[in-house]
Amino acid sequence: MNNFTSNSHAKALLREAETALLDEKRDLTPEELADLAALPDEHVAGLAAIAHEVRVDRCGMEVELEGIISAKTGGCTEDCSFCSQSARYDSPVKATPFLDMDEVREAARSTASLGASKFCLVLAVKGPDPRTLARILEAVAMVREETGLQVAVSAGLLDDDQAAALAGAGVRCYNHNIETARSFFPNIVTSHTWEERVETCRRIKAHGMDLCSGVLLGLGETGEQRLEMLLQLRDLGPDDVPINFLNPRPGTPLGIRSKVPAWDALRWIAIFRLGLPTTVLRYAGGREVTLQELQAMGLAGGINALIVGNYLTTLGRDATDDIKMLQNMAMPVGIIGSAI
Ligand code: SF4
Repeated sequence: MNNFTSNSHAKALLREAETALLDEKRDLTPEELADLAALPDEHVAGLAAIAHEVRVDRCGMEVELEGIISAKTGGCTEDCSFCSQSARYDSPVKATPFLDMDEVREAARSTASLGASKFCLVLAVKGPDPRTLARILEAVAMVREETGLQVAVSAGLLDDDQAAALAGAGVRCYNHNIETARSFFPNIVTSHTWEERVETCRRIKAHGMDLCSGVLLGLGETGEQRLEMLLQLRDLGPDDVPINFLNPRPGTPLGIRSKVPAWDALRWIAIFRLGLPTTVLRYAGGREVTLQELQAMGLAGGINALIVGNYLTTLGRDATDDIKMLQNMAMPVGIIGSAI
């Protein structure tokens, strides 16, 4: 294909995607998504523009903010090869016990003061043991009572009784990432399976909690595997999809991997929006180091939610910088209503 033909072909693909999503309100097929993902770099801005239109049409202009706290850091039994919280790797992150309730309270209050609507307690565990679950339930009750924030929890694999206990305590949302495509997962984690993760995700929904299930891009997966994980998420139907980019952590097996190039990150944010038009797409870990000064472009290219402040083991940028970025983009902070 010469340049002219390939340009016309790309523009035709973009127009078709726009018509399908905005006029016909139909989902793109796997083939359409694959064609769009393969567009040359010069069309990434075009992809992002359509992704933004779709986000505004289906979700509105609001951006949802969520604060998170690492309520139990490090010492995890699992071997996720990107994770500095695994006890199996010689990483600088050391195991700490469950945080004191006063520290949780302070973090929740500071999250509320930013105008955020959600606060997530994150624990580095395979799944919660009875003592840990009891501490989580205590923290959930305290945060709900004292801040009115929606409470989310991320504490690994759950059985039915644990999911019921969390739902009964008023946990609005549970985070359990699929991380990567089913076909690639065994290259990254061997201590539990992708299927176990998905089972927990289905359990969360069955117990009436919102499902937050995200991905981590840059683990060495191919473009086909990124599409695979997108379609697997579509099948799972999460309410919220955090998009993380690998921030290679020293001491972990992926500590020397390169970061996702910024332009490629924007391409995949747009593809995830086009594939999941009504889902909350949340900027999560790794966005600063991956996108640097292009972070605002992701918000104008499909993203409609942010994790603000600290990202567990790496410091996020100052939350006031994010608020300023949203003000500059005329994007109000709000709660994103149920999908259309
Ligand atoms: S289960 Fe979670 S905390 Fe544990 S090693 Fe894997 S990603 Fe890290």
